Order: sequence, then structure tokens, then C-alpha cells
Amino acid sequence: MSDDLLNLTYLFAAVLFILGLKGLTHPRTAVRGNILGAVAMLLATVATLSTAGLKYEFILVGLAIGTVVGLVFALKIQMTDMPQLVALFNGFGGGASVLVAGALLLTLKSAEATVEGLIATAASGLIGAVTFSGSLIAFAKLQELKFVRDLRFPGQQAINAGLSLACLLLGFWLVSAPETAVTAYWLIVVAALALGVFLVISIGGADMPVVIALLNSYSGLAAAATGFVIQNTVLIIAGSLVGASGIILTKIMCVAMNRSLVNVLFGTMGQTGGGMALSSDEVYSTVKSTSADEVAMLLDVASRVVIVPGYGMAVAQAQHAVSDLYDELIKRGITCEFGIHPVAGRMPGHMNVLLAEADIPYEALKEMDDINRELERVDVTIVLGANDVVNPLARTDPGSPIAGMPIIDVDKSRTVVIIKRSLSPGFAQIPNPLFAAENALMLFGDGRAATVDILKALQES
Ligand code: NDP
Repeated sequence: MSDDLLNLTYLFAAVLFILGLKGLTHPRTAVRGNILGAVAMLLATVATLSTAGLKYEFILVGLAIGTVVGLVFALKIQMTDMPQLVALFNGFGGGASVLVAGALLLTLKSAEATVEGLIATAASGLIGAVTFSGSLIAFAKLQELKFVRDLRFPGQQAINAGLSLACLLLGFWLVSAPETAVTAYWLIVVAALALGVFLVISIGGADMPVVIALLNSYSGLAAAATGFVIQNTVLIIAGSLVGASGIILTKIMCVAMNRSLVNVLFGTMGQTGGGMALSSDEVYSTVKSTSADEVAMLLDVASRVVIVPGYGMAVAQAQHAVSDLYDELIKRGITCEFGIHPVAGRMPGHMNVLLAEADIPYEALKEMDDINRELERVDVTIVLGANDVVNPLARTDPGSPIAGMPIIDVDKSRTVVIIKRSLSPGFAQIPNPLFAAENALMLFGDGRAATVDILKALQES
């Protein structure tokens, strides 16, 4: 392929990437956006592989290994573990950037090295390694592995500052002494791997969504830096787009969590600690439980119902049962809407994806601020497998790990029914006084089974 044709194909792929991203901004156009992005990536890959002088035997081995690993993951992963898979893929992106930039450095003669190329190499190693180790820790946290839960110790910020400084100094060494660049590069990688671990390991409470979005952005920035190293235009463009959209998502998540981006960048999130430290027994002394029949009776006389889904709906795979319940309520002339919290579930947009899969109309999905304005006039709110995103402690306990996080004010509606299997906590591991509120009723059980039972009871009423 000639250089002109190669660049033209890259330009076309870049335009498709941008159109694809635009498509992803709305659920209705998201599938088309995804397809455009995939076509762009295929074009970019084929064009790159047509470049003269490549050693295809290694590329084919790499492709085969990647395909097998990708296929095994994609086929084995449960839908509820999708966020963990995304975290791993972010990490793999960072790791790939580290290896590509490192491999090029090995073949580089110091006389041929340019300052720009060496800066890009140092950036690839630094950002790629932070992304790799940080994403592995994020994976472990999303998997709720106990050994990474809110690990904090004195001097953590000093260690982070020391490691950041070490990375900068090593980067300076790499750029100023090309003949020892390989040693400096791998030292940067080691320091950055440690930095990634320390930055993410202390993030607790409900702050993980911001970290996930930030790591996503880092993986793009690492790829863009590697694009400069190997002088591949489309990698620079695609990496920059991922980096920029990841930063925008990070900002959106920060607003949703009421956290500042500065705190995120300096890794001081989730340091609130303390809190009223109420025991579960104290909080849950006045819990009232209910039955599917009783909930059906409440719905039968309601004129306005709101459903607030959370991670438990994903675990129970209850979205189709919820869709049937929604249809039944609408058929009866009852207004039914969904209150969607921006960080409900375990990945940005988790609830929207599940509800769209069950063909619930987009118009019925209301954002947190919109539904909060209405909740005082709502007869029954059903909280389906949500916990942290409806926890009033965010409003009342300044020491809580979710303090200041905006929540869906379900306690303001006339009656709240909470469907979950037990009184156990959500991702932030704190009790939820909502369950014992005067207007709250607990319907204990699996989210899907409980929703099916309510629907059956409603249809029989
Ligand atoms: P939570 O994790 O707070 O609570 C989920 C609840 O679902 C649990 O209390 C659990 O209770 C219940 N549950 C689990 N399985 C079932 C089931 N089969 N049927 C019924 N209920 C079930 O979820 P939320 O959505 O309220 O909040 C999300 C949390 O995750 C926030 O803290 C957020 O910050 C965090 N997070 C979000 C990310 C994102 O990008 N959206 C990324 C990373 C973290 P029980 O076991 O009693 O049934």
C-alpha cells in the first residue's frame, strides 16, 4: 500500500471513529456507533498490516494468542462480570503500550534517538504501567476480593508523591542519556507499576466509578504516546479520542459523585473514613418486611410508580421481568418511570444498557435530578437491587464513605418497597437506614423472582 493510500485510509478510519463516538452518546444510536468504531478499527488494522517490511509470522502468532484469550474471556464471562472484563481490557491496553514502546527502544540506536521520541517512550512506559497495575487492582476491587478492600496505611500519599517524583526523574534520565535509555525505561515501568497499585488500592466506598473512567482515559493516553513512538498516525488519533472521551466521562462521574477532579488526579479519594459507625442492629431495629401480594395491592391503587434499579437487578437478570411489570402497569393506566442513578451498577451506563436490552422505552428512563424533583408526588417507589445509590447517609453523615454523593431520594415518595435478598450492604459496605424508614417495606428475595411474583399477584388482583 502506498503512503498516500495508507494515510487516506487512516483519515477515513479517524472520521469513522469520531462518528462512532457521536453515536455512542445516545442509546438509540449506540449500536450503530459501535459498528462504525469496529469498521474503523478493521480498516486501520488492515491498512497497517499492508505496510511494507512487517514480519508476519510474529504478527500472526500475536493475533492467534490474542484471539484465543479474547474468545475465552468473552464466552466464559457472566454478564454481571462485564465491568471486571472492561477493567482487565483497559489494563491490557496499558500493558501493550509498555511492551511496544519498550520493544522499539531495544532496536533503537542511540545516535538515531530524538528527544521527542524519547519523551513519548517515557510517557508510554509511565502511563501504560500505571494503567496496567491500576486496572488489575480495579479488577480485584470490582470482583470484591477481600485482600484489596480499602487498604490504607500511614504515609500513603508520601509514597505516591515519592514514586511520581522517581518516575519524573527517571524520565529525565531516559531523555538526556539515550545510551542508557533501556535501563531507565524499565526502571520507570517498575516505579509506575508500584504507583498504579498505590493510587488505586486505597480507593474505597463508592468512588470506584471515577477510577474506572480515569483508567480508561489513561489507556488511551498510553496508546497515543505509543503512536508517537512508532509514528503511527491512527494510533495517535484513536488513543487521543479514548483519552479525551475517558476524561470527559471522568468529569461526568466526578459530578455524579460530587467529587473534585483534583482529588481524583492526586489520588486522595475515598479518604473520608470515620463516620457515625452505626451498627447494623441499631440501624435495622425497625425494619418491616412485606410480601409480593401486599406490594401488588399497593400498586393496584397507585397512580404513579417509580422503579429504581441497581446492581442487584443485574445480578438477578431481572430486566425482562421488570419490563413485563412495566407493561402491566402502563396497561392499567398507571404512570411508571425509572429513576437512573449515574453510578448504579458496576459500570457507567450499566442500568441503561440492561433496560434497553429489555425494550423499555428510553422516554421512561429519567435521570437522577429529574426524578428527584418528582418523588414527593410518587405513590410507590420500587428499589430493585439498589443500595448505595439510595442510601440517605450520603445526605446526613459527613463521615460516611459516600458523604456528599447525590442519591435518588426514594425516601421522599409515599411508600418505598425495597427488593433485595437480605439486609447486607452494597458496594460501599455501609448500613442503609432507608430499609428501616417509616415509609419503607422490605421485600426479601431474588430480584427476578420477586418481580415475577408481584406481576402474578397484580394480574390476579
Ligand atoms: P450496591 O452495590 O450498593 O447494592 C446492590 C444490592 O443488590 C446489594 O445490597 C444486594 O443486596 C442486592 N442484590 C444482589 N444480588 C441480588 C439479587 N439477585 N436480587 C436482589 N437484590 C440483589 O448497588 P447500587 O447500584 O445501589 O450502587 C452501585 C455501587 O457500586 C456504588 O457504590 C457505586 O459507586 C459502585 N460502583 C459503580 C460503578 C459504576 O461505574 N456504575 C463502578 C464501580 C463501583 P443482597 O445481597 O441483600 O441481595
